[in-house]
Amino acid sequence: MKRAHNFSAGPAALPLDVLEQAKAEFTNYQNTGSSIMEMSHRGPEYTRVDSDARESLKRILNLEDNYEIMFLQGGASLQFLQIAMNFLGQDETADYINTGAWSQKAIKEAKAFGNVNIAFTSEDSNFSRVPNSSELKLTPNANFVHYTSNNTIFGTQFATEPETNGIPLVCDASSDFLSRPIDIKKYGLIYAGAQKNLGPSGVAVVIIRKDFLAGINKTGIPTMLDYRTHAGKLFHTPPTFTIYLVSLVLKWLEEKGGLDYFENLNNEKAELLYSTIDSDDFYRGTAEVASRSKMNVTFRLPTEDLEQQFLTEAKTHNLVSLKGHRSVGGIRASIYNACELSSVKALTDFMNDFRSKNG
Ligand SMILES: *Cc1c(COP(=O)(O)O)cnc(C)c1O
Repeated sequence: MKRAHNFSAGPAALPLDVLEQAKAEFTNYQNTGSSIMEMSHRGPEYTRVDSDARESLKRILNLEDNYEIMFLQGGASLQFLQIAMNFLGQDETADYINTGAWSQKAIKEAKAFGNVNIAFTSEDSNFSRVPNSSELKLTPNANFVHYTSNNTIFGTQFATEPETNGIPLVCDASSDFLSRPIDIKKYGLIYAGAQKNLGPSGVAVVIIRKDFLAGINKTGIPTMLDYRTHAGKLFHTPPTFTIYLVSLVLKWLEEKGGLDYFENLNNEKAELLYSTIDSDDFYRGTAEVASRSKMNVTFRLPTEDLEQQFLTEAKTHNLVSLKGHRSVGGIRASIYNACELSSVKALTDFMNDFRSKNG
């Protein structure tokens, strides 16, 4: 059985090299006679895994010591409430940019803690685009501005960070984290569930600027949900095996050439797909061109029957997990870092062939 061309939106494809290495040391980690998942999270082997992952992240993102890195459980979804629980008081306001289902979930959670100003929404166009900074209705003195850098379901992505005039930026980067270089200095907090671009499910990476963290002035936050609990130490048992796999993915990412390498590769993959979609009107992209995502490419075919046929035939060509989210319909090809150019070529060859037979 050969490996599939896997376009899963998440949990998503992992690099084969990483899976092979994990397999090779699964039962006997570096000649210790135990699996990494059978060891103390405070022992020397796991301590090394944890610090390797942190050091990789620092190098990849050019992080200086004014940022805390945390590996937290509960996925990105817990971050929706944890951010507001820590950084938003009852009489305070945070600005949220609403560009899709994940933004909406973040907004819903934040409303339990304080005032939420919707600085922009593209709901009226079924979230087919993201805003320009000039469209944002920001609150002076908001505690933070929250946005979703890549909208996994609707296939849109911010080309660059929104301009917030000094208000701390808080970003859900779950589905484009480490897919391109970013200017980390712009962020008060950036978080990502691991299972799109970083590893298997089970952990969220949360990176917080120390001065932003120091601004938490609320009391009564439950211990596990208080970010200060996790700053600079392991408070409790982390998901060790997941973080081990994340450390391998980060090592792989650095060996390949870091964020510049992946930005080029991801651009190439996305251009190949979008140019195939745009070459006539058989395929129709669902996102506005200027807002198109380089991670999740969403498109429709002329009829739902053809879409169903497309998915069925794609599977016989070893092209899997292409069904769009139910709120958009159609097809979604998720092409995160671990998706190889050869997989995208296999998909676009199939698309051209399918169009010539059914167009
Ligand atoms: C997948 C996803 C989430 C949800 O992540 P969980 O880890 O399942 O909670 C949140 N935001 C974005 C942008 C996502 O793609």
